[in-house]
Amino acid sequence: MSTWPIGVFASVDAGLGVHLDVAKELGIPTVQVHSPHAGTRTKSAADKFLASCHAAGITVTCVFGGFEGESYADIEITARTVGLVPEATRAARADEMKQISDFTKLLGCDTVGMHIGFVPSDRSSSSYRGLIETTRDLLDHVSKNGQKMHLETGQETAEHLLEFIHDVERPNLFINFDPANMILYGTGNPIEALKKVGHLVRSVHCKDAKWAAEPVRGKEWGSEVALGEGDVGMETYLRTLKAVGYTGPLTIEREIAHDRERQRRDIGTAAALLTKLRTEIL
Ligand code: MG
Repeated sequence: MSTWPIGVFASVDAGLGVHLDVAKELGIPTVQVHSPHAGTRTKSAADKFLASCHAAGITVTCVFGGFEGESYADIEITARTVGLVPEATRAARADEMKQISDFTKLLGCDTVGMHIGFVPSDRSSSSYRGLIETTRDLLDHVSKNGQKMHLETGQETAEHLLEFIHDVERPNLFINFDPANMILYGTGNPIEALKKVGHLVRSVHCKDAKWAAEPVRGKEWGSEVALGEGDVGMETYLRTLKAVGYTGPLTIEREIAHDRERQRRDIGTAAALLTKLRTEIL
């Protein structure tokens, strides 16, 4: 694959991504996909989706897991409901993530991604220790499928994410860097964060956002905006990706599934912007 192919976050039947036809229409060669619902994670569904991808010249670069009961309504609810952190659903979700890894293998893809949730700040707490154990067990399953797992950024500071990955001690755990999430969650300047975690970044989201009036972790959301209109600074972002040695896809994410027309338009504009910057920077 060439350096920095454009990508888009797509969905089979779940999540906020665009449908595959949007990627096809825009001539975008790679997609990350949100994992489909349990009933659709079958060999025949995988074959059908792969056939559509092949016909459109599209490569699947990562499959993201998501779970029933997750809500991003506000930051407090997100902390309570998302990922493997909530203890009541941890075991069941880890199990489901293994099934998603198996489905990802059917798609011929070597990477799964997920929001692990708000990792507890106290590294000696039982919740943190339990999360480490669960993540190790999951990663060992993922490894048997010949895969690695990428953690989405935003819910932790760069420093705490590095501590967590260090403590998990598995060679197939990496980062999907999302600069907008650092702004949306108020977890730190995205460019400074990227410099800190860059050596572990194996996939990225190209998404933009504006800081909340009072950007404090766990308080009010920032707001997601079209690429190039927010506080990330796309040129600086791409130059920093180059500086940390990142060569993988530039996957556009635009989470406005309620407005499909606008989503399609914004993704087209984003692809044009990234293509222009790529020519200037590489
Ligand atoms: Mg993202």
